[in-house]
Amino acid sequence: MAPTDKPQSHGPAFAAALFDTSENDLMIGGLPVRDIVAGTGTPCFLYDAAAMRRAYRDLETALGGFADIYYSVKANPLPAIVSLFRQEGAGAEIASVGEYRAAIRAGVAAQNIIFAGPGKGMAELREVIEGGIGEIHIESAEEITRIEAIGKPVKASIRINPVPDAQAGAMRMGGKATAFGFDEEELENVLPLFKDARYIDLVGVHIYGGTQILDADMLVSQWRHGISLAARMAEMLGRPLETIDLGGGLGIPYFAGETPLDLEKVSAAIPDLKALLKAHPLITDAHVIVEPGRFLAGPGGVYVAEVNSVKTSRGTTFVVMDGGMHHHLAASGNLGQIVKRNYPIVAPAMMLAEHEETATIVGPLCTPLDTLARNTALPKLKAGDLLAILQSGAYGASASPAGFLSHAAAKEVLVENGVFEVIGR
Ligand SMILES: *Cc1c(COP(=O)(O)O)cnc(C)c1O
Repeated sequence: MAPTDKPQSHGPAFAAALFDTSENDLMIGGLPVRDIVAGTGTPCFLYDAAAMRRAYRDLETALGGFADIYYSVKANPLPAIVSLFRQEGAGAEIASVGEYRAAIRAGVAAQNIIFAGPGKGMAELREVIEGGIGEIHIESAEEITRIEAIGKPVKASIRINPVPDAQAGAMRMGGKATAFGFDEEELENVLPLFKDARYIDLVGVHIYGGTQILDADMLVSQWRHGISLAARMAEMLGRPLETIDLGGGLGIPYFAGETPLDLEKVSAAIPDLKALLKAHPLITDAHVIVEPGRFLAGPGGVYVAEVNSVKTSRGTTFVVMDGGMHHHLAASGNLGQIVKRNYPIVAPAMMLAEHEETATIVGPLCTPLDTLARNTALPKLKAGDLLAILQSGAYGASASPAGFLSHAAAKEVLVENGVFEVIGR
């Protein structure tokens, strides 16, 4: 290896972009991480409320009134987090009756909740329709039958699995076989399914092409496609649409070399998108929705674990932590990643220390899958030191196999204005 190929850590640069790191400490919500965990113990997820609010406000500003923001609850379903985004003005996008209850508990008004998901059951449809819901996003013929059997009026959109879009690149724009929604090319065969519906008020279209989009042009292209699809559907129906849901999928950087979604570029495209709505009388007055999860909740969260032991095996240094993939599957590279790359990771009480060690960071589980970072540069660590994995506010605790190996759940802690509160488990 040439000297320049020495393992680097992209953690410190990420930390500096997201949080106050002016001294030796990573600050979350106005407090040093080590002070918070002295109170809560490790392992834990710490959520910086101000950082989450900032993500919401940055997006809202970029959208310039073009679309309303619904927080996708599955990214982080803790009611305190849902409530934070509700306070900022968000509705809630849910995918199960459990998320419905979380949204209601968080104070989201029923009419500001929308429900998508490929396998909605009779009991959950009944509970949300009887409890009240803004819209159901219909994904199968059976769902139409079930809702009609419940026999109470409800608004609905059709969820569409988009065709590949040459401009956006087939990779991200769907076009593959999926269980989500109806294929776009089947739209004219799907609309007649609603012909005799007495209780379903078909008001809109929902299109969601993929997650973790970092390219603003690709995102805007997807939105443009959604608008033209909405216009086409309105023409087929011969009446205006009330709702155009353009989906979530706004990405955040995780890996070395990735850069944040360029919100200025998104913002620059908004007048053009507004003009597209205006150009089609049947969708001019439609309510446009975007429903991000990761973008809103991800950057504000860090996962903190304590070093249990440090050992060397055949030339590789292993740092064994008290937490791992049972709390944070995504960071271990086992939640959908094809190539396992390191999340940004820092030693939150040693921010100014030299990165003199190269180590592999593992959790306490008895499986090599439980690896949190491979071959990464870090300060020299010993038992009792802390590590923090950044970009961990979304798809963390609730997307991890908490039952595997029967360790305790991670604590989840909201920190705002120098005050911390355990909000989960
Ligand atoms: C998961 C999901 C989202 C949120 O996705 P992100 O990539 O976190 O923005 C939005 N809409 C639907 C229908 C989803 O399933």
